Amino acid sequence: MVELGNTTIKRIGLLTSGGDAPGMNGAIRAVTRSANYHGLEVVGISHGYRGMINKAFKTLESKDVSNILQQGGTILKSARCMEFKTIEGRKKAYDNLIEAKIDALVVIGGDGTFTGAGLFAKEHNFPVVGIPGTIDNDLYGTDFTIGYDTALNTIVDCVDKIKDTATAHERLFFIEVMGRDAGFLALNGGIAAGSEAVLIPEIPTSYADLKSYLANGYRKSKNSSIVLVAEGEKEGGAFNWAKRVEKDFPDYDVRVTILGHIQRGGTPSASDRILASRLGAGAIEALMDDQKSIMIGIENGEIVHVPFTKAIKNQKGVKQQQLDLVKILSN
Ligand code: ADP
Repeated sequence: MVELGNTTIKRIGLLTSGGDAPGMNGAIRAVTRSANYHGLEVVGISHGYRGMINKAFKTLESKDVSNILQQGGTILKSARCMEFKTIEGRKKAYDNLIEAKIDALVVIGGDGTFTGAGLFAKEHNFPVVGIPGTIDNDLYGTDFTIGYDTALNTIVDCVDKIKDTATAHERLFFIEVMGRDAGFLALNGGIAAGSEAVLIPEIPTSYADLKSYLANGYRKSKNSSIVLVAEGEKEGGAFNWAKRVEKDFPDYDVRVTILGHIQRGGTPSASDRILASRLGAGAIEALMDDQKSIMIGIENGEIVHVPFTKAIKNQKGVKQQQLDLVKILSN
């Protein structure tokens, strides 16, 4: 047992919020079982912040989280809650927590969830710890977020399949993947699946550059070409790029595939299960150690604590070097 300072926390509220991500269930299990191990109670709150406002509380015991480690989605359900964006909504949520004798909160979600958590913690001086659960991997201060590895593997699997048909018909495919503000899925999906180019929000690619990559790739292999496009890419997405290219290269057989919600579902990868397990246990240890308003992250294999204010600043960034790698390897 880890010797930690705080003894005042007894009942911890736990919720998942925002976009679901495979591996969230592993984090729910880890939070519940670690808390139980340390003699603390966990109350599951369903449908994210909406459940705090509606008093959707239910005590979670060890048996309630058995057999969920391998399931995608979240047994606690997720939701988006506009009321929590108001001071009044957060006050109502606070009153409900106090009434239910919940004295700390663990939230699993992305940057929106942590923005709300930070405000709530500050307004009510309430201990809140966050666990990064988002397929986008866009939180600063953690190398990986729960769900990213699984989503990336889903993308690679899909691109491999599309590549078979692309090659059979010598086609050029624009494949759009998730990532409203972050291009990590597109970038690393592109590297892992061997795409010609990736188009991401962080570092725009000019149309002239794209044309030269495509012309180069096609000239050399005359085989197939894949371009991965992040949905938040600034030039209007996969269909837009495809239209332009079709006009300029009438001899190319251009197709578009939007991968969509398939990227969120499925069995979490081993890496995501391990990450979820470590971060879940880390969240309980942090609360017992009097930490508040922090996200539990992982950096270079070690658990770290990152203030919410830092985690949500969207500073992770993509390095030009990584984009260059796509270009070099598709040469
Ligand atoms: P994610 O956590 O995946 O980024 P959202 O952006 O949808 O997902 O945020 C999830 C929830 O967090 C929202 O439905 C809302 O209840 C809360 N939230 C988001 N932004 C804010 C904000 N600026 N102030 C208060 N609560 C917020």
